[in-house]
Amino acid sequence: MNELPDFYRELQDAVTSAVRWTEYLAGAGVSSVLYTRSALAGEKAHLLREQAVAIEGCTLCRLSEKRTQVVFGVGNPEADILFVGEGPGKDEDEQGIPFVGAAGQVLTAVITEAGLSRDEVYIANVVKCRPPGNRTPQMDEIETCTQFLVKQIETIAPKVIVAAGKPSAAFLLGDPELGITRAQGKVYHTTGWRWGNAKVVPIFHPSYYLHKKDEDPAKGAEIYAAMVDGIKLAAEVASSGK
Ligand code: SF4
Repeated sequence: MNELPDFYRELQDAVTSAVRWTEYLAGAGVSSVLYTRSALAGEKAHLLREQAVAIEGCTLCRLSEKRTQVVFGVGNPEADILFVGEGPGKDEDEQGIPFVGAAGQVLTAVITEAGLSRDEVYIANVVKCRPPGNRTPQMDEIETCTQFLVKQIETIAPKVIVAAGKPSAAFLLGDPELGITRAQGKVYHTTGWRWGNAKVVPIFHPSYYLHKKDEDPAKGAEIYAAMVDGIKLAAEVASSGK
């Protein structure tokens, strides 16, 4: 048998090692790097499902008393952009999905106008149960419930968190006095803080637009445009990594 020159023998060894490594991965249920990525995405989905199941019967705060069901979150577990609203409303409480009522339709519209789709982002709320009469969640309810949002953020690890409305922005930026009119449309860097490297972009809550558009159509249009601009900014930040 002819001896292979060194170069070809090294090449053959490398190919043999690669084949053995691929066979090893296949034996472990992973057939390629692409499948490895799918497995990680599947892992995030699995973790989120586990978290959702774990809090199905949560009674840690008074919001459990009047809710129909816990509204955990919906969307792409691999999302670069996570939307965080205030809390479920009547439709969300009935269907178990965040942002499906009138405000949800506005959110879907502004996401689309900003060049994204609802399927590619993840949507959750600061509190997971409907505050009676759609009142603003109280501070102790937010303090109790946000441990679940923190877990969601850790699992999804988004590049940007779009905070819809004051309660969400105030919590995510750790500033109870935050004014949403001044904060919306800006990028907040939270590197080194508990959201990892995720930036936070506050926007007006879609309910605020619904509330304003009839009494002052010009103001309503301004709020709507600001929401679209804020989401466009979030998408730019997510894609540039800045
Ligand atoms: S709002 Fe959160 S903490 Fe309160 S009962 Fe619902 S899931 Fe539990």
